[in-house]
Amino acid sequence: MDKRNKSLHTMDSCDSENLPISQHKEKLVQAVQVNSFLVVTGETGSGKTTQLPQYLYRAGFGKNGKIGVTQPRRVAAITVAQRVSQEVGCSLGREVGYQVRFDDCSTQDTVVKYMTDGCLLREILADPSLTQYSVVILDEAHERSLNTDILLGLLKRKVLQARGGSSSGRSAPLKVVVMSATLETDKLSAFLGDCPVFAIPGRTFPVAERFCGLIGPKDTDSTVYVQEVVKVALDLHTSERAGDILVFLTGQSEIEKACDMLYEKAEAIDYRYDVQDRSVEGLLILPLYGSMPTDQQRQIFQPPPKGVRKCVVATNIAATSLTINGIKYIVDSGFVKQLNHNSRVGLDILEVVPISKSEAQQRAGRAGRTSAGKCFRIYSKEFWEKCMPEYTVPEIQRTSLTAVILTLKCLGVHDVIRFPYLDRPEERFILEALKQLYQCDAIDRRGHVTRLGRLMVEFPLPPGLTRALLKAASLGCEDLLLPVAAMLSVENIFIRPGHPEKQQDAQREHVKLIAESGSCNDFTVLLSVFEKCRASDSPSAWCRDHWIHWRALKSAFSIETQLRDILLRLKQQRDFPVEKFDGSRSEIFRRCLCTGYFANVARRAVGRTFCTMDGHGSVVHIHPASALFEQEAQLDWIIFHDVLVDAYELSSVAREEVTDEEVAKWEAKEAAKRQSEESAEDALKKLERRNDEASVSEARARYLQRKRER
Ligand code: ADP
Ligand code: MG
Repeated sequence: MDKRNKSLHTMDSCDSENLPISQHKEKLVQAVQVNSFLVVTGETGSGKTTQLPQYLYRAGFGKNGKIGVTQPRRVAAITVAQRVSQEVGCSLGREVGYQVRFDDCSTQDTVVKYMTDGCLLREILADPSLTQYSVVILDEAHERSLNTDILLGLLKRKVLQARGGSSSGRSAPLKVVVMSATLETDKLSAFLGDCPVFAIPGRTFPVAERFCGLIGPKDTDSTVYVQEVVKVALDLHTSERAGDILVFLTGQSEIEKACDMLYEKAEAIDYRYDVQDRSVEGLLILPLYGSMPTDQQRQIFQPPPKGVRKCVVATNIAATSLTINGIKYIVDSGFVKQLNHNSRVGLDILEVVPISKSEAQQRAGRAGRTSAGKCFRIYSKEFWEKCMPEYTVPEIQRTSLTAVILTLKCLGVHDVIRFPYLDRPEERFILEALKQLYQCDAIDRRGHVTRLGRLMVEFPLPPGLTRALLKAASLGCEDLLLPVAAMLSVENIFIRPGHPEKQQDAQREHVKLIAESGSCNDFTVLLSVFEKCRASDSPSAWCRDHWIHWRALKSAFSIETQLRDILLRLKQQRDFPVEKFDGSRSEIFRRCLCTGYFANVARRAVGRTFCTMDGHGSVVHIHPASALFEQEAQLDWIIFHDVLVDAYELSSVAREEVTDEEVAKWEAKEAAKRQSEESAEDALKKLERRNDEASVSEARARYLQRKRER
């Protein structure tokens, strides 16, 4: 094994000399030397992420401070750091290291530091001038992640201020490099005071694109695309010439499902008869998603054994962040999992939505990096035209701004509306964030950060959860909330085996765990699993016996310790809040949750539905995986952590032809059925008065869904 790694290593490092970027080494270094801002662009795979930091390092940029490279995705930060440390020939965490949320693999010696954009944002809080850095590289700017966008605005202000002569406490001026795939570079340059753009000429090969037409605008079932993707991948495996396959899917569970189906079906292939290209003798199926163990990820980059075709089934991470060599075929599902702020529910919701056309082009491009390739789109041309937007909306315009606005406020940016945004978020989103911060006492009536707000910003957690944790800490009961916060920061802990019999075993164990947790809600279940596992003699064996992911639990233990350390540090401050409350453990627990999640409350409505109490009155259901699902009938009020929705389903339902009148009548009937105070007629009138597109289309979607159910 060792031997193989070594030979791979030398082979790959020769490769790095042949990357498109390597001919421009000197000019690039010089461009960074003479400019405060520089935009670097080039096709994905040209070597920006792995090579430029090394060039700067060798040119001596590391002498005055670190070279920081941000990534929107945590896996990318880790994988790239691993790769670069290998190329440099140091062990990870020495000269080359990384830092992502809850996982710091950097030391005093680290000069080239890969990190998530969120981590750099937190570092700015502690050190606003970034005195530790000589260069900051914002990578993957075209992804337009919320944190990268905010960093762009902050660094623009900072560097311009420093130029204007205000002291920043640093010896040499900070250099800022913004790297992006070939999109939007003019806009970036204009934003950064018309800074120069360094374009690395790329070489790309033609990619033949085909619409397989297996998914049309009316396909609402999200399980369909998994099947179709598998079918197309297998078809092409048997009919196309040698070359690796990259399949784009949405998330971990879909990817695992697709891989299972692929394994099963690939078993049945008879390579003597079924496969056109005789040199192809096998299929190596590899999943790739964010929360995957890193040792498994490494396999993705290794060339497959001779005669074997590699098939990587990945999330969007393989679109630009990571480049896998040897890919000749793309299978595009046409969907992506995206965090969207739903202002009707007032929450960020992880949705499966159709990708944009520009995203689809980016995906296809991955097949033409080293030779001509082919891209198989499982959807139809009609789907492309009717369901896919031109461009992806930047995250800042579609997710909750609460955490980011609190950060800005703590950095002294008082006027958050006039902050230099590359793309301005809608004002109502900013106002909503301010309202939420005010409601959790993080800012006061004048919009200034409170003492509590300054405590909250220290935690790398969503604001509601932080608020609940701080409430518990002020009551001296942080032991109740720290494990919950940690457990909510890792992936799903419950193993769901594919095999039906094992599935029953797992289910039985999980039901038992839920029952043993006492008060039977998801928060206490998490707490109880955490405590039970930690108290057992062999935590890993305990996890195995109870069908719990040991890896997730192990991370939760580490995260709990890290959160506890932050809390201990804050508790030493003189004015850390202290409160008293006499009540049982479960009363205290509920009190803390209510303090944090006051905005996520719903009251029983008709049937199995609940109605949120945030002024929007959205209809929500209890998820079948929730511990509350079985007791649903006995509940009048619920507090929830998350809302999931299959937006594609909703939007495609809404696309059906229904007149507003029909919807209005239905709403009226529903209202009458609910025996609410407002009469049916009132409801009708109200609906007519509403010009609000969103609520009408939501009503329409609800109507259609009901109609189908019946
Ligand atoms: P860019 O940032 O311009 O998209 P990268 O620097 O990420 O390009 O990639 C340059 C090359 O390095 C690609 O050929 C890619 O396959 C290779 N590479 C990057 N990461 C790894 C890795 N972990 N293992 C093997 N090869 C890698
Ligand atoms: Mg890159």
